[in-house]
Amino acid sequence: MEVQLFGAAREVTGSCYSITTDAGEKILVDCGLFQGGKDVERKNYEDFGFKPSEYSALILTHAHLDHCGRIPKLVRQGFRGKIYATNATKDLASIILMDSVKIAEQDTKNENKRRAREGLPARKPIYNENDVKNTLRLFKLVRYDEDIHISKDITARFYDAGHIIGASSIQITINEGKNSKILAFSGDIGQADAVIVKNTEPIKKADYVFVESTYGDRLHPPMGDRKKEFLRIIKDTYNRGGKLMIPSFAVERAQELLYCIGQFEQQGLLPQKKVYLDSPMAIRATEVFTRYQEYYNKKIEQILKKRKDPFSFPGLINTLTVEESKEINYVTEPCIIIAGNGMCTGGRIKHHIRNHIEDSRNTLLLVGYQARGTLGYWIQKGEKRIRLLGTEVEVNAEIEFIPGFSAHADYRGLIQWLKNFSPKPKTIFIVHGEEKQSLEFEKKLQKTGMKSYIPSAGESINL
Ligand SMILES: [Zn+2]
Repeated sequence: MEVQLFGAAREVTGSCYSITTDAGEKILVDCGLFQGGKDVERKNYEDFGFKPSEYSALILTHAHLDHCGRIPKLVRQGFRGKIYATNATKDLASIILMDSVKIAEQDTKNENKRRAREGLPARKPIYNENDVKNTLRLFKLVRYDEDIHISKDITARFYDAGHIIGASSIQITINEGKNSKILAFSGDIGQADAVIVKNTEPIKKADYVFVESTYGDRLHPPMGDRKKEFLRIIKDTYNRGGKLMIPSFAVERAQELLYCIGQFEQQGLLPQKKVYLDSPMAIRATEVFTRYQEYYNKKIEQILKKRKDPFSFPGLINTLTVEESKEINYVTEPCIIIAGNGMCTGGRIKHHIRNHIEDSRNTLLLVGYQARGTLGYWIQKGEKRIRLLGTEVEVNAEIEFIPGFSAHADYRGLIQWLKNFSPKPKTIFIVHGEEKQSLEFEKKLQKTGMKSYIPSAGESINL
């Protein structure tokens, strides 16, 4: 068989792995968007490097855009196979892909203005709403821990990856004549003791493993410290009479924040104040989270006995419309505003930053990774003047950062996940990490005696 890497090889985003059996059958694992700056995102417009119509199935690990974001393009270009995924993955992917259409349209408009100035032909978005609708029709829902017969020779099994709800690691068994080979794809591996999801479920057998290495060089602080720090920052802001702005990813992070705030209030650790969830996408994602309680860990299950919805509490206000969002500017008492996007590069958070960052009573709290060059990155670096939405503002608000509020395991967690395989896999292929992280992770892995290899983009591996 041959495995070819069409993304997330020596880079984090664009996950897309092709498997071709000796009998010539072809399937894909993930087909994600490349994200992070113009040079990387240009690849979304390039050819796949393969013919989508030749593939009979796609196995989707989870709904994050860097894993599912190019599927509508795949469908637009002739893919008609089944897309295997969990129920929560399908529902979240539908929200995320529809949002991606809007972002792509806006980006294309901006890009075409530039192209017109340079005399270049206009560019079309990589897909539209119709392509997303056609994609959603191809989904076939699966459950964890069941054998899914993809074809006569290919069987897949989904395991809880403990990353976001519905996220999976996949074990794929391929029969080739009398022999069978087992591949494992980690998908994105979550941290132990996550706020909402369960701990990662191990896969015990595989000949070859493809493991992510997003944080292959890092250790996260313990979860308890993060919650304490979060509580302190909210209290400090309230005591100053200020507003707390939190740029947040719409899926998992926003729900984790809501859950923690609800808990603080219920335990009497915080006075009850208004909390605005100012992101239509996060509001919709929260509805999905509320629906799929089977993915919750034990702690949240306990909470469910006391209150029906772990992400809701008396002061919470969901602001769907732009008018409702603008109203927040006129709020004078202390409050919390959770808005997208997570790196302050777009979405409603930019308006809140412009309107509130000059007031020293307020706080901007960063709870996620800020990629180089993003507005969040400059704020985190301590810039005192920033430009956004056509104006320059002074940064007088408190800037806080809680590290490790991440849905990804650190290197210890990744190694722990790999140690579950018995016997040791023949080769561990390190993927889904910046080159530096993958190299660091390989060094750590060598100490365990596991044999590893870091493939490059486009590389074919015969197994
Ligand atoms: Zn992910």
